[in-house]
Amino acid sequence: MKTMEFFSFLIAFLTIVMSVSQGNATYQIPNIEQFLACLSKYSNTQIHEAIYTPTNASYTSILNLHIQNKRFKTPSTPKPLAIITAKSESHVQATVTCARSSGIQIRIRSGGHDYEALSYVSDVPYIVLDMFPLESIDVDIKSGSAWVQAGATLGQLYYQIAKESNVHAFPAGVCFTVGTGGHFSGGGYGNLMRKYGLSVDNIIDARLVNANGVIQDRKSMGEDLFWAIRGGGGASFGVIFAWRIKLVPVPPQVTVFNVKKSVKEDATDVAYQWQQVATKLDRDLFIRVQPNVVSGTVIVSFIGQFLGPIKRLIPLVNKAFPELGLKESDCIEMAWVNSTLFWYEMPKDTPITALLPTSQEPDTLYFKSKSDYVKTPIPKTALKQIWDLMTKYNNILMQWNPYGGRMEEISSFATPFPHRKGNLFLILYIFSWTEDGVEAYDRYMNYSRSLYEFMTPFVSLSPREAFLNYRDLDIGAKHQSNSTSLKKASIYGRKYYRKNFDRLVRVKTLVDPSNFFTSEQSIPPSSGHL
Ligand SMILES: Cc1cc2nc3c(=O)[nH]c(=O)nc-3n(C[C@H](O)[C@H](O)[C@H](O)COP(=O)(O)OP(=O)(O)OC[C@H]3O[C@@H](n4cnc5c(N)ncnc54)[C@H](O)[C@@H]3O)c2cc1C
Repeated sequence: MKTMEFFSFLIAFLTIVMSVSQGNATYQIPNIEQFLACLSKYSNTQIHEAIYTPTNASYTSILNLHIQNKRFKTPSTPKPLAIITAKSESHVQATVTCARSSGIQIRIRSGGHDYEALSYVSDVPYIVLDMFPLESIDVDIKSGSAWVQAGATLGQLYYQIAKESNVHAFPAGVCFTVGTGGHFSGGGYGNLMRKYGLSVDNIIDARLVNANGVIQDRKSMGEDLFWAIRGGGGASFGVIFAWRIKLVPVPPQVTVFNVKKSVKEDATDVAYQWQQVATKLDRDLFIRVQPNVVSGTVIVSFIGQFLGPIKRLIPLVNKAFPELGLKESDCIEMAWVNSTLFWYEMPKDTPITALLPTSQEPDTLYFKSKSDYVKTPIPKTALKQIWDLMTKYNNILMQWNPYGGRMEEISSFATPFPHRKGNLFLILYIFSWTEDGVEAYDRYMNYSRSLYEFMTPFVSLSPREAFLNYRDLDIGAKHQSNSTSLKKASIYGRKYYRKNFDRLVRVKTLVDPSNFFTSEQSIPPSSGHL
């Protein structure tokens, strides 16, 4: 079918489908026709090949390809009016320009890991701009930098770096299916953070499509906007097309270990002691504490990575943290790229091609996550109560990620990510379940809220800080079908960004005063109309 015929057919068909499926709903459905007609003007960019509407046989598989949480894969989950799988800057520009002129809300998706699905679900009619085909990575070892398109995953990035060098790395997350588009713009932490900080501390340029559909780089967007997209959530400000990152040095071999202790033995004492020392350890060493319920008992894993050999690690741990009882036999030396697979609990000999994405729909669980920051050690009595609650709730895993080192040296205002000096560790709570239905859903959502409530005396207060990459709508949200005040946005804004919220609002007001880029937890312009 020729391009123009394709568009005419699509528009006519959608007019019928939308009016039938939405009945006399109050939504402004006809805008999708205007949107598609607008896109047809860009037919020289081959954009028609990138459009999926509910009438397209591949629509559901494209939608599901990057849904990572079953909570948002149900028949009642709102679905987009169209998905545009962008393959070039001009596709992104066309989609932004046409969505804006048609008054249609846009959701931007790269890896689809958003814990509350804000990259592909909205409570008003919307389209999804899917960035996953934009996955090229250009590593330049000579300058120690790389350009990474937003649809590339962390696994692709780690793989490409390793293809060029075994002594370069990039500080980012453990889950390698995560997309760089969302991960970097939300902060991006991983096991190199005590040595090198977060992903956002190592980004040196970006290409972004703004609300006017114009491409900007660091120079043309200016330092304020460049600051905002490094931890303030890109989706409030524009579409990140690509990042330029600074690679960091690592030794040819790093050491990893995973020491597991049961709370029936000495796990409580060791976890308590970890809180005293974790931020003070050599910054080459990162030890995550991961309590998990296994066959009705809490097992605490002490998962470590050391930027050096076993022979330097053992005396260092024996001196600073002897309670761990780390032995040489617990440790494995490997190239940094292989350690990214170790952290994902893959067998030692897994080939690094396992880091690359597949075209298969991911196996998903239902899950709900929340986050907290701890500034003073949690007493042993409370640790025991936490284990009891975990045992009661059963399907819960926690990750405690230590601060100190480089994280304490970077100012809280250097990027929108404010959680720096003064934190001992970041907690991630993950409740997951497999049972379908409302009863299980309510039960686990309530468990997550009860544990969060229980933790109140032991974590940050006023505000109770939260990590943007661990998005949680429980901490405050605005609904897209209603207008709400700036004051309401400041409830979640202060938890994610503390005082940086004010600067983010100022940047937003300058670059997107009409609030085109909006979501349930976006930064509003100061007019207060969300
Ligand atoms: C299994 C798992 C493990 C994780 N591990 C870690 C970890 O180790 N460290 C860590 O820091 N986080 C981790 N996260 C959280 C993850 O970093 C965030 O959810 C991140 O936002 C995901 O990015 P994404 O591109 O995959 O997600 P998406 O859902 O595509 O996007 C997330 C957010 O970013 C926006 N966005 C996406 N792409 C763009 C773009 N190109 N331009 C502008 N805005 C964009 C979306 O609209 C949405 O608001 C993990 C999440 C999961 C599910």
